[in-house]
Amino acid sequence: MPSPVLTSLSAENELPSFPVSLYLAPWVVPISSPVIRDGAVAISNGRILAVGSSSSIQAQFAGARVKNCQGVLLPGLVNAHIHLELSAYHHVPRPAPDETFCDWIRSLLQLRQEGGIEPEDMARAARNMLQQQHDAGVLLLLDIGNILPSPPATIAPAVHLSFLLELLGPTSKAEEQVLARIASLSDSVAATPHASYSTTPGIMTALKQRADRLQHIFSLHVAESADEIELLQSGRGCFRSFLEERGAWENIFPYPGMDGSGSVEYLEHLGLLDANLLCVHCVHVSEKEVQMLAEHGCKVCLCPGSNRFLDVGVAPLEVMLRHQLLPALGTDSIASNEELDLWREMQILREDHPGVVPAAVMAMATLGGAKAMGCEEEFGTLAPGRKAILLNVDSPDLQGVGNGEQLLDTLTGGGRPEKICWIVEA
Ligand SMILES: [Zn+2]
Repeated sequence: MPSPVLTSLSAENELPSFPVSLYLAPWVVPISSPVIRDGAVAISNGRILAVGSSSSIQAQFAGARVKNCQGVLLPGLVNAHIHLELSAYHHVPRPAPDETFCDWIRSLLQLRQEGGIEPEDMARAARNMLQQQHDAGVLLLLDIGNILPSPPATIAPAVHLSFLLELLGPTSKAEEQVLARIASLSDSVAATPHASYSTTPGIMTALKQRADRLQHIFSLHVAESADEIELLQSGRGCFRSFLEERGAWENIFPYPGMDGSGSVEYLEHLGLLDANLLCVHCVHVSEKEVQMLAEHGCKVCLCPGSNRFLDVGVAPLEVMLRHQLLPALGTDSIASNEELDLWREMQILREDHPGVVPAAVMAMATLGGAKAMGCEEEFGTLAPGRKAILLNVDSPDLQGVGNGEQLLDTLTGGGRPEKICWIVEA
């Protein structure tokens, strides 16, 4: 019997015919709809056509090529915050109990300034890290760096890498230089600020206007440590000492009219809150600030492994979800995390937030990330029209699973599955 063909996706007889493939698995996790036991995904011409129970999909596409998979089909994971160029800096020590976030920055800067790592070793470490991300089931990465360009995303079969050039300058003199550099950048280079404590308002607003004009992602570190809030609110604390040490303290905090406000309120004051803002970390944000982020349609990315490594606190995930804000997940760099593994990030999130349902954690690692990167129409869910790239995972832990809830509990709480492979149909 010949394979059936799809004659039309929307209007009849307008599209060419393409063969249809069916992928069947004991479990399908579409993210955008409930977990399906004995499910199937129909694919044609590089796109998902339909997702449903195995019996209904096979009836709908009778005679299509069928491939039986073990375990679970789900969308590829999204790492919405990583610094690949720091992949060789795995030896930056975590802060001692009497040390601050600023001490960790000092250690990292010292290592980078000493220049003990050759550029080719840094590039090799970045490529290896990218390969590791792919092998762990990561489909999309948002890579931030200020020295190296991202390694070429040539890893087959599936990695989609976006690179943001990170710029910073805490003084008016630095601002002049950075603005000149921004003006000289090719439009193909996406550029973004580092953080409020390291970048003047003039640089941040110039970069935001540029990102909006060029439709680039605009992302920065926000409210990562309590020290940042102390600086913004009072102009004191370890960040002030840090900036003074470098001759970079210009007394701009507390920003005029901003006494007592948090990091998100500061960004709001600068007019930066909108749907093209990705705030990374958001550990020290008030409920009022979470509400502001949600109302403006801003994106958030949490990095629980990095926050634990640096001992900066735990982001208010429950409050975010209550305000209909689905954050993305990121590993940050190996300089501030023991390992860069999104399965471990989900596990840490479950430990830190036992009241959050596993389905929300799984959605963060997929759909939340795709939304943060502005590509939820292509990735992040298994739904009609999305790209035909499926992640297939399996592990002995999944054998005794009886329902969708237990499946998501195991996937998000059990660490990296034993078997991970990609299904890609171009
Ligand atoms: Zn970071």
